[in-house]
Amino acid sequence: MEKNKFKVVITDCDHGSIEEEKREFGRIGAELILAQIKEEEDLIRVCKDADGLLNQYALLTRKVLEKLPKCKVIGRYGVGIDSVDLKAATDLGIIVANVPDYCVDEVADQALSLILALIRKTVFFDQKVKSDQWDFRQGRPIHRIKGKTLGLIGSGRIGLEVAKRISGFGVRVVTFDPYLQKTLEGVELMDFDTVLKESDFISIHCPLNESTRHLLGEKEFQKMQKKPLIINTSRGPIIDEAALIQALIKRQVSGAGLDVLEKEPPDPQNPLLKMENVIIAPHISFYSEESISELKRRTAENVSSVLLEKWPRSVVNQGVKGKTRAVISPSEV
Ligand code: NAD
Repeated sequence: MEKNKFKVVITDCDHGSIEEEKREFGRIGAELILAQIKEEEDLIRVCKDADGLLNQYALLTRKVLEKLPKCKVIGRYGVGIDSVDLKAATDLGIIVANVPDYCVDEVADQALSLILALIRKTVFFDQKVKSDQWDFRQGRPIHRIKGKTLGLIGSGRIGLEVAKRISGFGVRVVTFDPYLQKTLEGVELMDFDTVLKESDFISIHCPLNESTRHLLGEKEFQKMQKKPLIINTSRGPIIDEAALIQALIKRQVSGAGLDVLEKEPPDPQNPLLKMENVIIAPHISFYSEESISELKRRTAENVSSVLLEKWPRSVVNQGVKGKTRAVISPSEV
């Protein structure tokens, strides 16, 4: 293949190495530049003759995109595409692709590990033993997992993986997901209030949007009859955090496992940081060495596919179909 037939720019990324990207663009004979830039003028200057971009946080605004006449594709590292003006990209015929499922297993594992650690009070006992207190009675009561009910708010890719994992524990799984008519065998679809009422553990797996912001608030905590554990590995603002703190204080819920918060990192005076029945992780659910490697490889593949006239695996702006700057083989669309 002709050397440097294409120019590809990584606008920015914080993954440390770019070995996966180098391998993929080396394979198709593309020049790869790691720019690490964020300012509009820099983006225009470095990317103006690029055929494709890989992007993490740098804002690809309409003003920037309009100055990139050769750009045919943007590969966004990750699921969300907040950094790209999608309407502008579509208007200009630029394909925007993401990798929506690179960390499904990791997030499901994290949700399950929070549920198990809360039920068995793993972190609580660890802290006691390390402060020289060897006494199981301090953690009373602990209840058996088998026979309990897990309520999933949202049963897409991640929710269903949580359901599969927990089925081996003899737990009943119920779910509220307004966009599903049916789901996995063994998972019961229910209305929202029934899930709140019947669940011993509630795990959130819906996206954050205007209809899910503060989906769990004061009214919803009052409807929870079994003092459930609340698990959130999705997005912080889906829970009204002030209401959760009150529900924990009033014992309407018996604990929380939170990978995400309304404000990340939290203010040092956030009361959740002092609660023994609350486990917090610094938004790490997405992460494993394997998931990041997969993310980088597949983001690069999305971009190289377009340069090789193929439709990439996951296109965010489907509206670009039929007016792409890139030539795409008809059999690919
Ligand atoms: P998905 O799109 O496969 O599933 C989301 C499900 O939520 C869908 O079935 C949808 O119908 C349902 N849903 C939408 N609105 C709802 C509502 N109002 N109430 C109940 N259900 C609703 O997404 P996924 O891959 O399973 O990811 C779920 C979420 O996990 C993402 O939106 C993201 O916010 C979060 N996430 C977090 C991390 C992390 O590191 N903490 C990593 C990846 C994803």
